[in-house]
Amino acid sequence: MKWEGKRRSSNVEDRRGQRAGGMQGGGFNPMLIGPLIKILFSKTGLIIVGGIIVISVITGTNPLSFLGDFMGGGGQGFTMETNYTPSAEEDRLAAFSETILADTEDVWNQQLDNYREPTLVLFSGQVSSACGMASSATGPFYCPGDEKLYIDLSFFKEMEVKLNAPGDFAQAYVIAHEVGHHIQKISGITSEMDKLRGQVSEKEYNQLSVKLELQADFLAGVWAHHSQKSVGWMEKGDLAEALNAANAIGDDRLQKQATGRVTPDSFTHGTSAQRMKWFKKGFETGDINQGDTFNTNDL
Ligand SMILES: [Zn+2]
Repeated sequence: MKWEGKRRSSNVEDRRGQRAGGMQGGGFNPMLIGPLIKILFSKTGLIIVGGIIVISVITGTNPLSFLGDFMGGGGQGFTMETNYTPSAEEDRLAAFSETILADTEDVWNQQLDNYREPTLVLFSGQVSSACGMASSATGPFYCPGDEKLYIDLSFFKEMEVKLNAPGDFAQAYVIAHEVGHHIQKISGITSEMDKLRGQVSEKEYNQLSVKLELQADFLAGVWAHHSQKSVGWMEKGDLAEALNAANAIGDDRLQKQATGRVTPDSFTHGTSAQRMKWFKKGFETGDINQGDTFNTNDL
């Protein structure tokens, strides 16, 4: 992918090197943290332990499951500086992520009326979001409550090494997938889903989650289509990189890797074949109207 030197988004919060704690707002004296945490526990119970809600992405465990409880709430946390110094490779990945985000802005501003641009938060280790606390282990995620994408750049290394899904275009696909969740948020799909939670069985809700994820893959494909059309930065092998990533991070693959077997009812992102299929459909058509994964019998 020929991405260097292109516009970088300014909708970025670089929180690498910051340690997130329970309450945000800046200016807290670390000495007060202990008592503060106690007060938080007694008054609001779960803010701190609640954690990890999010539409988790890729390695995704339990996406959406607590979304409603945390939407718009929480998100408070103090931050402390740590001795973090980004490596040259990490800074390169940060620049890359900002460039891809900028391009998603260009494409979606063109494709959608009144597109509201999301913010990208780069973090290291752990982070506080409106969806609760999250650690790198969660993988990249989008939080509808604050309309931010959260990425620990070490995930890209993990993709390469653990999931065998290397390549810059594979990384771009991950970012575009999260932006896809943002589009679902601003178009009201996420809140529709949220309403259904608790009204349908866990199995049915899981199936809906799969549809939501596949639609985000589709939207990533639509982005890639228009991006390539206007910027033309994809190189030979790039599409294969994204498809390989979609293949590598399907729930069936991940579950098999983790447990040695596959349990379809608990799929939350879709199978490898489904993820590849919907990304490809978006990429080939570039037509946002072809992505209604909720009303098709052909996932
Ligand atoms: Zn997702």
